[in-house]
Amino acid sequence: MNKAIYNFGPGPAMLYPEVLRAVREELLDFRGYGASVMEMSHRGAEFMEVAKTAEADLRELMRIPADYKVLFLQGGATGQCAAAPMNLLRGKTSADYVNTGYWSQRAIAEASKYCEVNIAASSEHKNFSYAPAQSEWRLKKDAAYVHYVPNETIGGVEFQWVPDTGSVPLVADMSSNILSREIDVSRFGVIYAGAQKNIGPAGVTVVIVREDLTGDALKRTPAIFDYALQAKNDSMFNTPPTFAVYCAGLTFKCLKKLGGVKEVEKHNIAKAKLLYDFLDSSAFYRTPVEKRDRSRMNVPFFLRDERLNDEFLEHANERGLLHLKGHRVLGGMRASIYNAMPGEGVAALVDFMREFETRHG
Ligand SMILES: *Cc1c(COP(=O)(O)O)cnc(C)c1O
Repeated sequence: MNKAIYNFGPGPAMLYPEVLRAVREELLDFRGYGASVMEMSHRGAEFMEVAKTAEADLRELMRIPADYKVLFLQGGATGQCAAAPMNLLRGKTSADYVNTGYWSQRAIAEASKYCEVNIAASSEHKNFSYAPAQSEWRLKKDAAYVHYVPNETIGGVEFQWVPDTGSVPLVADMSSNILSREIDVSRFGVIYAGAQKNIGPAGVTVVIVREDLTGDALKRTPAIFDYALQAKNDSMFNTPPTFAVYCAGLTFKCLKKLGGVKEVEKHNIAKAKLLYDFLDSSAFYRTPVEKRDRSRMNVPFFLRDERLNDEFLEHANERGLLHLKGHRVLGGMRASIYNAMPGEGVAALVDFMREFETRHG
């Protein structure tokens, strides 16, 4: 029996089956090269083509303007939490941060090593259950940049709007919702994202940076995190994560075939609606996030009777619905339903949850 398995883990997350099939197909002999893509020089014509195509496809998918650089770096989003202040302070001494949960706090802690951090807005007093409205933000005129996390992966809070920070560059950790919805890149100074949620395997970090913000990094900035240096070297100042870049390129091709971000977004809206509508209709489950700020990617929920948690997870596993356990800081459950999660997966989860409720409600 070939039972369908759906992985609701937060990351590294599900990839499109087409991506995995292409990897398998090309693993031992990359397009007639006679060796694996993992074994080729990053400076050879074959790999340069892989990297160039990945960048071109990402540019097309996100409609990235020509005055933005696209970098494929290492060090994860966590590395970028340090790279952002190092590159963007540019003679200033402070930056504005919006605190909407776990990943905001991680970014704030890292930035505090390099500059004064002004908390422009915070949802901490309400247990990080909402996205503070722009009217609540207290921005500083002399801030080097404004940083926020458009989708809090653990708390399940997603901004449905892009903040307006005037002439101060907006920096976004888009790790868990990049390519899931249409955005206007020109509204941002820097967008960064670890690959392992919506792009590909862990190991590559996408950085999209407006060109005029590069070239004035702190002197002590590690070379690999220097945006201008990496841009000048096509992200190959040192050996890039070649296999991860290759896989990311396969995902970009796949997204293009699906009709691009616009189509994928429609699909994501429908998947999230199915799950939230069910949660709203049930007295057995609850979800903690303010309705208008609910994430389309990460859906935290709780059983009202938490004594049933273990049994819920055990039965879900038996049904092939994997990794629904919530993050340790929040508890409960979390369904991560990134781009590559098919609608059938969400439907199977809702069916299971309904049955579980009928049995125990
Ligand atoms: C997963 C995640 C991170 C962590 O990324 P690393 O690649 O592990 O450094 C940071 N920010 C957000 C929003 C995430 O979802």
